[in-house]
Amino acid sequence: MDDREICEHLYKVKRPWFVSRVSVSDEGKRVDMYLEHEKGVRWPCPLCENLLSVSDHVRERVWRDLDSGLYRAYIHASIPRVRCPEHGRIQAKAEWSEKSSRFTERFEAHAIDVLLSTDTKNA
Ligand SMILES: [Zn+2]
Repeated sequence: MDDREICEHLYKVKRPWFVSRVSVSDEGKRVDMYLEHEKGVRWPCPLCENLLSVSDHVRERVWRDLDSGLYRAYIHASIPRVRCPEHGRIQAKAEWSEKSSRFTERFEAHAIDVLLSTDTKNA
């Protein structure tokens, strides 16, 4: 396994997405994973779920993910937009995150667990 495959395994990256590049900064204590998707994939409209071809992509975004050891982990990706006959040009859903969040869903779930356990101790 190379570093991209290790990241895909550890972070459960699923097709059509794949890790195209990994950058590790020892000084910054961070791992940056760059995701791309396979070409020719059809994506569901987030409103009606019709499968549609890619129209274009939004600018690259970055999501904070769960740490990898002592390193903070970040996912970079450009999410595709589709042109739906009913809903116009619209951004497909990133499966790892809510639409406008800067965190992955698993990061948010972990943060909530930590907050809840802290509350319990204070109570
Ligand atoms: Zn639609």
